[in-house]
Amino acid sequence: MSVTGTTLAADGSSPDDRHQTVRIDRSNAVERYRYVCPNGHTDWDRTNNHVWCRSCRQQAENGDDVHPEHWEIYDKKLDKEIPWDAVELVADRGNWSAQRRRHRATR
Ligand SMILES: [Zn+2]
Repeated sequence: MSVTGTTLAADGSSPDDRHQTVRIDRSNAVERYRYVCPNGHTDWDRTNNHVWCRSCRQQAENGDDVHPEHWEIYDKKLDKEIPWDAVELVADRGNWSAQRRRHRATR
């Protein structure tokens, strides 16, 4: 039995499901405090397959029922969540000297 007349994408995926990449420059204090872990911390890190939060880890070690791994972060300004795979960290460790801004050159 075959269906004729309609054509569907074979894999059923939709490009609309993909979140637009968000570049976060954490050397910028405003951006650093804008994007937080789901529990409101700023000291998270992006790993290969999730977001890892240092403060959540400390809370877990103190007996709180929290997990240090997250699959999204929270954008306080837009009041929405961003999946980790859409997060791109600018000026990540090791890149500081290469990405140094020229703030001092203007004065
Ligand atoms: Zn946290």
